[in-house]
Amino acid sequence: MLVELTAEDIQREHPPSIQLVCWKCRDWYRSAARLVISYPTWTAVRDFGLFSVVGVSLLLLFLSVVSSSSLAPTIGPSRIILFATALTSLTGLRMVWAELRGRYGVTHDLSWSLHSRYAVVSLAIVTSGVISAAIFYAYF
Ligand SMILES: [Zn+2]
Repeated sequence: MLVELTAEDIQREHPPSIQLVCWKCRDWYRSAARLVISYPTWTAVRDFGLFSVVGVSLLLLFLSVVSSSSLAPTIGPSRIILFATALTSLTGLRMVWAELRGRYGVTHDLSWSLHSRYAVVSLAIVTSGVISAAIFYAYF
């Protein structure tokens, strides 16, 4: 059965171009227009923690392999560390920017914008670069 999709449903002044939809689609349009969060905060926190730990572990593993390799004396371990961690964080920042530019740029709702798995994983990548650099410079 089809129902009418009104301007109010999609939070606009004018009615949408598609005017008859099924119940399921109407609910979907309504929640999308009201920026209903579909990625729970607790899952976001868990994903952030998980991906940060994985990121730091991978970076530390990579950095310890590289700094004990034959390349290290030529380039200098601290330069390799700086390069690898900066590259990681900058890549993460680029991903955060790419995701938030669209989400925040259109909605101006930071909380909703950050409730995205891609944004959370990108932030975790930035964080793991920073944490790995801090660990390396503090202990090695
Ligand atoms: Zn439908």
